[in-house]
Amino acid sequence: MIKISFNIADYQRDLLAWYKHFGRHDLPWQGDFNPYYVWLSEIMLQQTQVTTVIPYFTRFIESFPKVTDLAKADQDVVMQHWAGLGYYARARNLHKSAKIIANDYQGIFPNDFTRLIQLPGIGRSTANAILSIAFNQARPILDGNVKRVFARLFAIDQYPSQQNTEKQLWQIAHQLMPDQKTQAYTQAQMDLGATLCTRTRPKCSICPLQSICQAYHEGMPDAYPIKKEKKSKPIKTALYHLYQYKEAIFLIKRPNKGIWGGLYTLPESPLAMGQYTHMLCDTQKHSFTHFDLFYEIKAYTVDQELMTQHSEGRWVDIADLDSYAMPAPFKKLAKFL
Ligand code: SF4
Repeated sequence: MIKISFNIADYQRDLLAWYKHFGRHDLPWQGDFNPYYVWLSEIMLQQTQVTTVIPYFTRFIESFPKVTDLAKADQDVVMQHWAGLGYYARARNLHKSAKIIANDYQGIFPNDFTRLIQLPGIGRSTANAILSIAFNQARPILDGNVKRVFARLFAIDQYPSQQNTEKQLWQIAHQLMPDQKTQAYTQAQMDLGATLCTRTRPKCSICPLQSICQAYHEGMPDAYPIKKEKKSKPIKTALYHLYQYKEAIFLIKRPNKGIWGGLYTLPESPLAMGQYTHMLCDTQKHSFTHFDLFYEIKAYTVDQELMTQHSEGRWVDIADLDSYAMPAPFKKLAKFL
């Protein structure tokens, strides 16, 4: 059991005062804290830095200003707006959730935990982030940043994603959550983790929580959270085939499940049709969370008729490649071509 040995009211006061002066107050999803914007930003920010998210968020909102606009959009268009952000299940779940909100809730964003948690892609921490930021409800979050800060404040010597540790962290999160100023408090936690209590080299000398931080007093904040032993990632290899006919290339749409689900890539089948002309590039590497992909691209000039039997594919003008949702490695294609 993790014990709270400091004064909770002082902790809340110090964190909120720091946020007021040093937090981020002008992010594009802040303003009037529209729940749709908050939700979108929360999903985009999972595993992704704020600076990367901002242009994607802005473009998304320009194209789909309301949740009902997102619900009505074609999946290809949604994926095209997400292409390059990675973790594509997030985009597919956003789209599914937008449809549920449009159809079942008349386009009005749910403001209770029970309905939010049932939407695809929304977990406990994300639901609470939406409720505390957009609806000012006293609901704590426990994302990666908050886990790291708690692991340091309490010098927790167990891996934070271990089930019983996570249970205890949730208890702490509830105990530390104020009844008021919930919006500012949640954002303060996020900002502290993202800007001061960073994964490496935390800026303890200017941290408002320094006096109560056990990891700091032990003189080794970097030692927390306890890290899992790093296993080397498995390696996968793939050969992609670039079929070109005049100024068009052949793309296939991948199934919704699996890597790059719902996006367009070159065909991956080992079947070589037509005249293989050259390797398009040296062996390339793309890292996923659970494996590294090493791939090569072979180029062919083919007769257009040869590909018509491929039901999932289509010929795309090279000049139009930008309007297709393609994962990061294939976005480089235009450059090679
Ligand atoms: S004192 Fe350092 S380790 Fe502790 S919460 Fe602040 S930044 Fe993180």
